[in-house]
Amino acid sequence: MNASTAGFAGEMLATGLNVVPFAWAASPAATELEGVVVDWMCKLVGLPDRFLFSGGGGGVLHGSTCEAVVCTLAAARDRALSSLGHEAILRLVVYASDQSHSTFQKGARIIGIPPCNFRVIPTSVASGYGLTADSVRGAVEADVASGLVPMYLCATVGTTGVGAVDLVRDLGEVARRHGMWLHVDAAYAGSALICPEFRDCIDGAELADSVSMNPHKWFLTNMDCCCLWVASPALLTSALSSNPEYLNNVSEGAQIRWSTTRTGRSHCRGLSVP
Ligand SMILES: *Cc1c(COP(=O)(O)O)cnc(C)c1O
Repeated sequence: MNASTAGFAGEMLATGLNVVPFAWAASPAATELEGVVVDWMCKLVGLPDRFLFSGGGGGVLHGSTCEAVVCTLAAARDRALSSLGHEAILRLVVYASDQSHSTFQKGARIIGIPPCNFRVIPTSVASGYGLTADSVRGAVEADVASGLVPMYLCATVGTTGVGAVDLVRDLGEVARRHGMWLHVDAAYAGSALICPEFRDCIDGAELADSVSMNPHKWFLTNMDCCCLWVASPALLTSALSSNPEYLNNVSEGAQIRWSTTRTGRSHCRGLSVP
């Protein structure tokens, strides 16, 4: 974890001003700033334009990757169940590797995926502990043959244990073929993508549905801060919207940006990213 003087100053400002951007109307400046910061970060780490607000995607700052992953899992679940019907939740399958962060297993349980439908695919020294497309294909085909529905695949760019990099393009092609949501977890090593010489590590990101990284790890940002980008914000908003009566005075246009997740941020994280 790397804090910095700029990150500290941003935290002091955000906490001292008590900015509470639950909704755009609660703090337009903080909410707009958050959108600007996630677009900056998107360009800095070299993600495709489809993850920018101007490219039809967008992003949000969460406290942790765990929160971001639960939101993407919920969006993927609802996308799958919209055509299958809610009872099909028992047939949905989530795939990760034996090097993936435990947050995926926990998140899958939280959003109602049966624990027996969480696949931990083995990796080996031969692939540098990266998840291979062949092994995912094998697991997916076996599940499809037994009537299950592949829903979500996690690719990690820089695993927590050994820094392994999964081949995003190859995994993205498998995900596309089987209609799975692809999430790229760059929580730990995502900051390195700022260096052009590491950009290859995320080749194929245009095939992902969502990408996340943690500025609070290597990006000199005080705890806690996670950038989440999604290609189709509407899938997140429809999975997480509740539209309570007491927020109905907010005009429609003004709601769009803040409602990317509607989890309610505790404070203005846009000020904390140096
Ligand atoms: C640290 C880490 C996470 C979890 O991040 P939190 O912000 O603590 O939830 C997820 N994935 C990877 C690869 C990590 O290194």
